Amino acid sequence: MADLTWIKNLKKPIAVIGLGKSGSAAMTLLKFVGYHDSDLLSYDEKDSSATFSDSSALLRMNPKTLVVSPGVPLSLPWIQTLLQNGAMLTSEISLASSVLENEKLIGVTGSVGKSTVVSILGAGAKHEDENGFVGGNLGTPFCIYALNVLSGAPRAKWIILELSSYQLENCEKLHLDFSAITFLSANHLERYSGISDYYSTKMKITARTKSVCVFNSTSVDAVIAAKNSDCPVLLARAATDLSSDEIEKVSLLGKHNHDNFAVAHKLAMLAQWSTAAIDKMYSFKGLPHRLETVGYYNGIFFVNDSKATAMDSVHVATNACLDKVSSSNRLLLLLGGKDKNLPWHDLSTLGNNPKIDFVFFGSVRTIAQTGSGLKGPSFPGLHEALEFCFKSAKSGDVVLLSPGGTSLDEFKNFEDRGEFFKKKIQSFFIQ
Ligand code: ADP
Repeated sequence: MADLTWIKNLKKPIAVIGLGKSGSAAMTLLKFVGYHDSDLLSYDEKDSSATFSDSSALLRMNPKTLVVSPGVPLSLPWIQTLLQNGAMLTSEISLASSVLENEKLIGVTGSVGKSTVVSILGAGAKHEDENGFVGGNLGTPFCIYALNVLSGAPRAKWIILELSSYQLENCEKLHLDFSAITFLSANHLERYSGISDYYSTKMKITARTKSVCVFNSTSVDAVIAAKNSDCPVLLARAATDLSSDEIEKVSLLGKHNHDNFAVAHKLAMLAQWSTAAIDKMYSFKGLPHRLETVGYYNGIFFVNDSKATAMDSVHVATNACLDKVSSSNRLLLLLGGKDKNLPWHDLSTLGNNPKIDFVFFGSVRTIAQTGSGLKGPSFPGLHEALEFCFKSAKSGDVVLLSPGGTSLDEFKNFEDRGEFFKKKIQSFFIQ
C-alpha cells in the first residue's frame, strides 16, 4: 500500500500556482487524496478557471503550501514573500513521487536531447514492462500516473521521466534510481542569472539519484559539470560506447542522435533490460518536429526540426542535413521565430560553409541576422519564407527548418509551427 501520510498532511490552504497541464493534474490528485475545494487555492494569470489571477489577493489568503508549476519563476517577489511567511514549497513532481511504492525511476535532463533520450528509453521500458510510464515534462504529467495507480491501475516497474531545469528546482520527494544529463549548452538564460546558475540547477538531478548519472561526453560543458556530481557518474558517446554495427542499427537521423542513443543504451544496460527491450530502442525512429524527415518533394528533401530553439540544436541539425547535400546542391536553412535572449553569434561559423543558404523569418529575423552576421533574404513570417524556398530550391537540395528562435511570435507552440511547415510543403507540391 502506498504511504499517503505526507500528501494527506500538507498544511492548508494549499495553493497550486500555474494551472497548466501539470498544475491541473496536481490539483486533481490533491482532490483525489481528500482535500476539499475550500482547502485548495489556484493561481494563474491567464487561466480564468483559477480562483486567483491577482497575486496580492492570493497573498492575503496566506497559503501554507505552494505547489509551484515549472512555468512560474520561484524568484517572483510575491512567491518569495509567501516563502518568508513560512509557506512550504513543493511541486507536481513531488506530489506524484510521494505516492510511489517500488517503482524504479530513470530521470533525464539536459539542455537538448531530453525528449529523444526519454523516448528511446520509453521504447525499451514499454517492452520491458507493459505498465511502464513515460512522461513528466514530455507528454503525460507525473501526477496522472499517481492518480491512475491510486485509482487501482497496475503500478509500473519502470518510470522514465523527462525533467526540465524548472522541475528540478523544487522536487524534494523525487528519488531516481538512474539519471542522465543529455547535453548542456546555453538555454533559458532569461530565467537564470547566468550559465553557471542554469547548469547548477540541471546538476540537482545528481543529488536526487541513488545509483549512477550518465552524461553525454560530447558536451564539453556536461563533462566539466560532471566533476561536481553528487552521485557516481558514467560518460557515454557513440564513438566510444557503440560498435560500428551497433551504430548502423540505430534508426535515428544524425550523429547527435547516435550519442543520444549511447546515453540511453548505457542506462538500459545499467537497468539490466532484456535484449528484446534494447532491440526496441534500436528501432525507435524519432519524434515529430525533432529532425523529422518530411520527405522528398520534386526531389527536394524537407526536414522539420521545429523544436530546435537552442544554437547547438541548429548546428547539430545543420550538420546532420549537410551529410545529405551533394557537392552540386544546397542546404536552405530556415532561421527565425521569436527571441529568448539567444546567443545568435554562435551561428556565425555556419557562414564559412559555402553549401548553406540562410533564409530568415519571424519577429527575431533582424536580431538573428545582426547577431549571427549571416546573410540571406528575410521575411516577416514562415509562410513567406517557405514560398521563397519552394521557388528557389532545386532537385537534390535540402530545406531544413531548424529555427533557433521560439515559435511564439506566430504559433501556439513548436508543434503547431512544425505542423504548419509540413502542411505547407504538402499543399504546395501535392495540388
Ligand atoms: P529537448 O527535449 O531537450 O528539448 P529533443 O530531444 O527534443 O531535446 O531535441 C531537440 C533538438 O535538440 C533536436 O532537434 C536537435 O537539434 C538537438 N539535439 C538533440 N540531441 C542533441 C545532442 N545530443 N547534441 C546536440 N544537439 C542535440
